[in-house]
Amino acid sequence: MTDQPKPHSTVTPSVSTSGTFPLVIAADLSDSMSRAGLANDARLIHRNQTHPGLVDLSLLPRPVQRLGIVGCGLMGRSIAALAVGQGIPVTMIDAAEPALDLARETFSGDSCVTVTSQYAPLAEADLIIEAVVETLPVKKMVHQRIESSAATHATIASNTSSIPLSSMEHHFKSHERFCGIHFCHPEVMSLVEVIAGPSTSPQTTANAVGFVRQLEKMPIAIKDCAGFVVNRLLSAMLNQSLRLLGSGIPVAEIDAAMRAFGFKAGPFEIIDIIGADTCMYAGRTMWEHKLECVSLSPILPRLVKLGRLGRKTGAGFYCYPDPRGDAVDDPELQTLIAPYVKFEKVPQPPTPRGIRALALKILAPVVLEATRILEQSIVDDFRDIDLAFTHGLSFPQQRGGLLYWADQIGIKDLLDILESLAIDDPAHTPTALLNSMASHGTRFYN
Ligand code: NAD
Repeated sequence: MTDQPKPHSTVTPSVSTSGTFPLVIAADLSDSMSRAGLANDARLIHRNQTHPGLVDLSLLPRPVQRLGIVGCGLMGRSIAALAVGQGIPVTMIDAAEPALDLARETFSGDSCVTVTSQYAPLAEADLIIEAVVETLPVKKMVHQRIESSAATHATIASNTSSIPLSSMEHHFKSHERFCGIHFCHPEVMSLVEVIAGPSTSPQTTANAVGFVRQLEKMPIAIKDCAGFVVNRLLSAMLNQSLRLLGSGIPVAEIDAAMRAFGFKAGPFEIIDIIGADTCMYAGRTMWEHKLECVSLSPILPRLVKLGRLGRKTGAGFYCYPDPRGDAVDDPELQTLIAPYVKFEKVPQPPTPRGIRALALKILAPVVLEATRILEQSIVDDFRDIDLAFTHGLSFPQQRGGLLYWADQIGIKDLLDILESLAIDDPAHTPTALLNSMASHGTRFYN
């Protein structure tokens, strides 16, 4: 996420957009399995009301009576709209006149929104969210200005999608009131990650969780790491999809299979929605922090260099004659990425076997990343991972959750897939947790 043109949408569109193949619903999901999956998802949602993760529930959150937002871009405006919907007055700040104009236009006639370039009004806010471009020097400057204007009681949060809080807390004199509040796509997804950095106080985390609930969203409070939970899982999925593309499986075939599996958009449609530049920069941050779920694919930099950033520029992996309309196959793409693709294959329409095989290859590394997250104790409970992947990234609800699905596949079978993938890429080597589960015959859900 950078100062490039902003995406029109984000991770999860509400409709499938590519029309290469007719939608085939995977035959591996019977009605009763689907009902059981939905029931598990409902239990996860219910559990979240009393178990929102790593937060001290004995601490009363301070209600937010005025919200400050710095950065009036895609995220700043979306978060403001949520707050306004709950009757919370908002002060919005930006450094760029066009961004201020767009915010004024978006909230014109709404007397509870103040749009300004001045930081002084932030003194009235109980919570201030920084939602400026994903670059550390800009965030540092903005953080320092926020702290010098904020009331002493105010909580300060960053909406960063990939930068660990440990790399930013030194921007503040009072580290303890700084946390992460990562909205995936405020208007579509209900999950919001609340991240406690190394110095975040328990009261700050409680305030942030309380605020997410004030917005009627689902908080999960987690520990600090690059990419947090949602984007680590997403990166594992996109990384593996790019590898499969590099090995010759066409974009349209991969996307059709994942939509047939139940995702609302395939991996390449998702990249086009988020923006190839955004994915590349967030992936680079995670790679710099030595996360194994990302490797440096030459395909994204190639698209970025060509200005094919996705929907926002009218072309990415697909073409978008209408930026909000359907994705259209682009015969030119194959030529553009040919140097990075081992061989060319004609896209095959999805068959139940093909869907299952591709879904396993793409999602086994996501399960692997989930077990790394568990081994690092980033989440309080494995069920928070399922909640995050379904309600932050649109994993199909009827499949019950990523780890619920992993149990249905069988840990031993997933281990076999990962071991075969690890022959080409040691980053797919199974974790000690997976090995132990396979050898003891245990499951995530008992
Ligand atoms: P954006 O490019 O749409 O908006 C960024 C805004 O920051 C712009 O309006 C810009 O004018 C403003 N800005 C830049 N420098 C500034 C400064 N010095 N002072 C004040 N304002 C300044 O970006 P976005 O997509 O809204 O992302 C914002 C943050 O949210 C990033 O940290 C990003 O990683 C995170 N995020 C984005 C998404 C997404 O899908 N776009 C999802 C989750 C989190």
